[in-house]
Amino acid sequence: MTAPSPGRTARLAAHLPQPLRRVAARLPGALAPPVEPGTSTPRVAIIGTGFGGLGMAARLRQAGIDTFTIYEREQGVGGTWRDNTYPGAACDVPSHLYSLSFAPKADWSRKFPQQPEILGYLESLVDRFGLADHLRLGCAVEEATFDDDARCWRLRLQDGTEAEADVVVAATGQLNRPWIPAIDGRDDFTGTTFHSARWPADLDLTGRDVAVVGIGASAIQFVPEVAKQAKSLALYQRSSNYVAPKPDGPISDLARRRFERSPFLLRLYRLSIWARFESRWLLLRKGSKAGDIGRKKFEEGLRLLVSEDLPEPAVIPDYPLGCKRILISNDWYPTLMAPHVRVVTEGVERVTPGGIVAGGEERAADTIIFGTGFASTGFLMPMRVTGRNGADLHERWAAGAEAHLGMTVSGFPNLFVLYGPNTNLGHNSIIFMLERQIAYVLTCVRRLTESGDATLEVKPEAEAASNKSLVKRLDNTVWAASCHSWYKTDSGKITNNWPGPTVQYWAATAWPRAKDFVETAKPSR
Ligand code: NAP
Repeated sequence: MTAPSPGRTARLAAHLPQPLRRVAARLPGALAPPVEPGTSTPRVAIIGTGFGGLGMAARLRQAGIDTFTIYEREQGVGGTWRDNTYPGAACDVPSHLYSLSFAPKADWSRKFPQQPEILGYLESLVDRFGLADHLRLGCAVEEATFDDDARCWRLRLQDGTEAEADVVVAATGQLNRPWIPAIDGRDDFTGTTFHSARWPADLDLTGRDVAVVGIGASAIQFVPEVAKQAKSLALYQRSSNYVAPKPDGPISDLARRRFERSPFLLRLYRLSIWARFESRWLLLRKGSKAGDIGRKKFEEGLRLLVSEDLPEPAVIPDYPLGCKRILISNDWYPTLMAPHVRVVTEGVERVTPGGIVAGGEERAADTIIFGTGFASTGFLMPMRVTGRNGADLHERWAAGAEAHLGMTVSGFPNLFVLYGPNTNLGHNSIIFMLERQIAYVLTCVRRLTESGDATLEVKPEAEAASNKSLVKRLDNTVWAASCHSWYKTDSGKITNNWPGPTVQYWAATAWPRAKDFVETAKPSR
């Protein structure tokens, strides 16, 4: 199959003088001209088929690099958008920004996309970029080991077979392993119980007494839907959330036709959403004035909801705005006020065969749904990753994961992590970050192609310097405040978030700096 078109931007860039071409190639959505047909290129193993994995594969195809395989644990593509099928599942980033800039979708049906439409978009990328022949579904990579002599990676796959790769791109995400706290008596429960990311197909909750443990971004989406069916609904909420209105609604046929006719308009609209979201960074700095004003505004509105049935801790957060993800919903507070819904703010003590005990009181339940989030700080788990000289990645990360710009780790040549440590955001679209990482990895793969060398490895001093600056900047963010969130390890190290606006990440990743890397030649045969 021929490489898909690299797009108009790249074609135009090809006519620019060399220095300008280099700049143009770094613009979001741009791509340098494809490698010459017949060029020998590194074998790339991509792990995961969410936005990161599919985006990486699509960009490799556009760059004329076909020597890649995409390994996926499940039987279908889509990552988190395949796994989270709970009722009401949707994204809180507007549709036109929540897609790859180089694979725009003009016909989104709503301003904020819902799970089936996002999954449909991700699935469509397989045909759009000719990825089917590169996919190995139902094939988890269980172990990746760097072979010091051959200077390549050896992968042990779920089916017991092995594969070799020169470059490994781990695109397994931060939120792929559902987490349920160890609560006494959980195994003795006799009713139905599951995690929100493992929602049973065709589940009917009509007439049921439902308990939800954990009220975060997922729960505020599925709880209003569950409340429509359940006889009673008890919400075990340890901390309340800041929930803002969601300016959602269908997109008119006229607007869709305009976007279809004018890719420029579509780009401009996307850019305007990105710029608006980027300004929200101001809320996330420690001691931010904007954050204080925002928190006061929230409090004023939320105080009006406080009642005997809905006491202050049920609705008013006791931590700074943004310390946990700011949520959006139009039906959250109305649901809390429904007569059959109760918010329980006392901690869960134990589960009994027929319910949950909290605050010394047992409440009956025949269904318990855990909305308790994901094991978010165990990057790349449960895959075993062994680098140069037998170094174990998870041992290296025992005190909390870290990587140079979230992507590379010294001692692990040619290993790139997408959506790795400290690359999550609290204010803008993660797809922007992923695209910067994909461009960075692609540049490294091109460099290996051009040099004919075997490996690129970040220098320990470059890694240490970027992590030192990261820690300093994280200290000045709202996440350093004393709320617990999935952004931190149990010991309080912030391992998940990027401490700045996305433009700062863009600037830091625009050109992989040659002096930050050691390049190693292929072994002589
Ligand atoms: P989450 O935000 O981590 O929420 C987990 C909830 O479980 C929190 O309320 C937490 O309470 C609670 N919890 C944890 N341990 C508990 C315990 N022992 N007892 C009682 N409660 C406990 O997880 P999530 O809701 O699944 O969302 C995870 C992330 O997924 C989001 O932040 C977001 O990035 C992503 N997501 C995104 C979208 C989107 O629109 N883009 C939609 C859904 C999810 P505390 O707050 O007190 O720790």
